[in-house]
Amino acid sequence: MIVVMKPGVQQEHIDHVVELIRQYGLKDHVIVGTDRTVVAAIGDKRGVDMTAIENAPMVDEMVPILKPYKVASKEVKQDPSVIGLGNGESIGGRKFGVIAGPCSVENEKQLMQAATAVKAAGAVGLRGGAFKPRTNPYEFQGLGETGLKLLAKARAETGLAVCTEVMSLDQMDLVAEYADILQIGTRNMHNFNLLAAAGKTGKPVMLKRGWSASLKEFLLAAEYIINEGNQNVILCERGIRTHEQYVRNTLPLAIIPAVKKESHLPIVIDPSQGTGHAYMVPAMCKASLAAGADGLLIEVHPDPEHAMTDGAQSITTDGFASMMDDLRRIADAVDREL
Ligand code: PEP
Ligand code: MN
Repeated sequence: MIVVMKPGVQQEHIDHVVELIRQYGLKDHVIVGTDRTVVAAIGDKRGVDMTAIENAPMVDEMVPILKPYKVASKEVKQDPSVIGLGNGESIGGRKFGVIAGPCSVENEKQLMQAATAVKAAGAVGLRGGAFKPRTNPYEFQGLGETGLKLLAKARAETGLAVCTEVMSLDQMDLVAEYADILQIGTRNMHNFNLLAAAGKTGKPVMLKRGWSASLKEFLLAAEYIINEGNQNVILCERGIRTHEQYVRNTLPLAIIPAVKKESHLPIVIDPSQGTGHAYMVPAMCKASLAAGADGLLIEVHPDPEHAMTDGAQSITTDGFASMMDDLRRIADAVDREL
């Protein structure tokens, strides 16, 4: 259920409703919208007549949430969520936020070159994997904590928010210590314990869609994070598995309007995993912005030909800068800020 509060509601009235929801043994989520504040009450409501909450001061009405995903759903919040990245930058709303950097952190020189270049070109965040989910156990697995330390150094020098993947529960505390945005990879979208643990950190989470997950499963995965009291979820489409061979994955940009219809959460596109080929990346970035996405997660390498992971899909730092110039023109046309 959603408890819709009247306009002009005070904090004490919200606290009172939260208290009542807890007394019913349900979980509360306060959602502050531009014109209304609502309190979602989530949990097993069998045997509970919580419509009595309607009697509390400044409550306007009680509305059932019909979608299986609750707090992620547009039913609880109409206006788009803006997720702060901890460095004064944000993703969502008018802001089109670009997070760019190498697939993997390889060494200090590579990371600093990438970080300074993407910052100069207008990125708000730096991506870089320290723990890499590799299909082949004999391939480079990432630098681990050494990589996290390099990311922290790059953040200190550039002011970029660091987005890096956490693959398992036992890495959560360590990665959360260094990351501004916790990336949950496509292979882990169904790892519900990991989603809940990421939710508990309170940090923004970059949640990638499972490569065979439906939109409904994707939004339910987001709900696992939100259900821990953390509404800072950024959805990321990174392509799905199909029969096609000319791409590494098939990138369904139609998910952008679909997410906008279903959810207030921002959606960013990863055209790097989404296509597997650097030459396709700029076109997909432009299309994503034009179609209403909220940002990009994109692989940029100072020397893609020698990249340790995903070189074929990594664009150069110069290529990134010129693409950002093109994106700025599109942003103007669609009333977004880059
Ligand atoms: C990545 O971003 O480098 C990555 C491994 O992504 P995904 O989980 O989408 O494969
Ligand atoms: Mn990659």
